Amino acid sequence: MSLPRQTDVLVIGGGNAGLCAAIEARERGAAVVILEHADRSMRGGNTRHTRNLRAMHAGPAHTLERSYTGEEYWQDLLSVTEGHTDEALARLMIRHSGELLGWLHEKGVRFQPALTGTLNLARTNAFFLGGGKALLNAQYRTAEALGVRVCYDSEVKRLNISRGHFGNAVFLYQGEEHEIAARSVVVACGGFQANENWMREAWGEAADNFIVRGTSYNRGTVLKDLIGKGAETTGDPTQCHAIAVDARAPKYDGGIVTRLDCVVFGIVVNRFGQRFYDEGEDSWPKRYAIWGRLIARQPDQIAYAIMDSKVLDRFMPSLFPPMTADTIEQLASDLGIESGALTRTVDQFNASVSSGSYNPEILDDCSTHDLQPPKSHWALPLDTPPFYAYPLRPGITFTYLGVKVDEQARVLFQGGKSSPNVFAAGEIMAGNIIGKGYCAGTGMTIGAVFGRLAGQHAASAV
Ligand SMILES: Cc1cc2nc3c(=O)[nH]c(=O)nc-3n(C[C@H](O)[C@H](O)[C@H](O)COP(=O)(O)OP(=O)(O)OC[C@H]3O[C@@H](n4cnc5c(N)ncnc54)[C@H](O)[C@@H]3O)c2cc1C
Repeated sequence: MSLPRQTDVLVIGGGNAGLCAAIEARERGAAVVILEHADRSMRGGNTRHTRNLRAMHAGPAHTLERSYTGEEYWQDLLSVTEGHTDEALARLMIRHSGELLGWLHEKGVRFQPALTGTLNLARTNAFFLGGGKALLNAQYRTAEALGVRVCYDSEVKRLNISRGHFGNAVFLYQGEEHEIAARSVVVACGGFQANENWMREAWGEAADNFIVRGTSYNRGTVLKDLIGKGAETTGDPTQCHAIAVDARAPKYDGGIVTRLDCVVFGIVVNRFGQRFYDEGEDSWPKRYAIWGRLIARQPDQIAYAIMDSKVLDRFMPSLFPPMTADTIEQLASDLGIESGALTRTVDQFNASVSSGSYNPEILDDCSTHDLQPPKSHWALPLDTPPFYAYPLRPGITFTYLGVKVDEQARVLFQGGKSSPNVFAAGEIMAGNIIGKGYCAGTGMTIGAVFGRLAGQHAASAV
């Protein structure tokens, strides 16, 4: 295969953000090349695993019910990030999210009615028919039909940048280094969660017990290179989207089927049989992404979700079967937890539950009293055998430390000056919007909105 030596717009990374950028740039007449580290079968990074994106809408739109105003979206984002967001960029993203469904539909992406279950998102999130892979296939088909050139197995190692101005990129193909020059570049190559050394710098040895839910290719090589070349950063290296996954999941690419949504239906204990956080603090779409970081701070980064048979059919099960026993003592012994400790925790919990009207659809009034930590909603006694448990580990989705961008998705270099021709989209700049916490479906919205902006402005920088 002859490799391209130059182009107008170079896009690094062929996930949702990169493809949105490539399509926009090509539609504006620029010659576009995508360099993608993975081979064709593994293309698309974390986007392969996705199911939905969050979009504002004034009335029913595609499969979205009723309305979800920009102000509601902003308030949701504000509450999960606790203010760790750039308001101007976040509001820009929210405004543009309203155009995404129509635009993606034009590019061949189809939507399906929302899935039910604990992530009840029928009003706020549009689900891709066929999931992330179908979305990617449509995006790749569209991009290639427009004339975008995609080079697989091409890992970008470094960018030649002088005073914020990009000249060319060095990439590895079949063990050899090659260069490609471009008038502008869009970096859309994800976070650094699959870079074990970098994760260890941020988290210490705890990082060894993390499971990476998605691609093994997002190693932060270009992010580190950009930081070394003076790009301004946003976010804290320990902040990330991290959920509770089944501890038996593979190290990489376990995807959605290893996620555990059962936390709200029972209690979660550490290896000493102790609870450590309010399992019913808020609705699950606003809280599921804090559980990975909570477990990461527990001894050996392991925890156990414990529930009884009343709730077993209320959540999406893991790929692996739950462990089960007729008594809490037996369950504790099977899990390797001191049985007296777990029994005490369950007894105290049961004694503190006050009766109310149980309703997992709302923040109900079933809570504990005089218990630390409390369970604020959906508290039911664990009293109906058999009992069940899932072992939990931190499942890292993506990191939030990234490059700072402006409203045209241009990367800011030291002194806050926007680069004339370096743009960023997706996970690599997600920390501008979500410096903390997470609102389900925002990863894809960030990638699509800033990908489109990056592509448009990269084409005009040519
Ligand atoms: C299991 C799972 C489920 C998820 N579900 C959802 C969901 O339903 N909704 C939602 O909004 N978000 C979801 N997310 C998060 C979402 O996947 C991401 O926020 C989004 O896909 C990021 O898009 P991206 O284009 O920035 O990165 P990616 O899709 O990860 O693409 C980055 C690409 O860059 C390539 N790359 C990396 N380094 C290099 C390099 N040096 N050179 C060349 N190429 C490189 C990678 O191979 C990859 O193809 C989920 C993530 C996971 C793991």
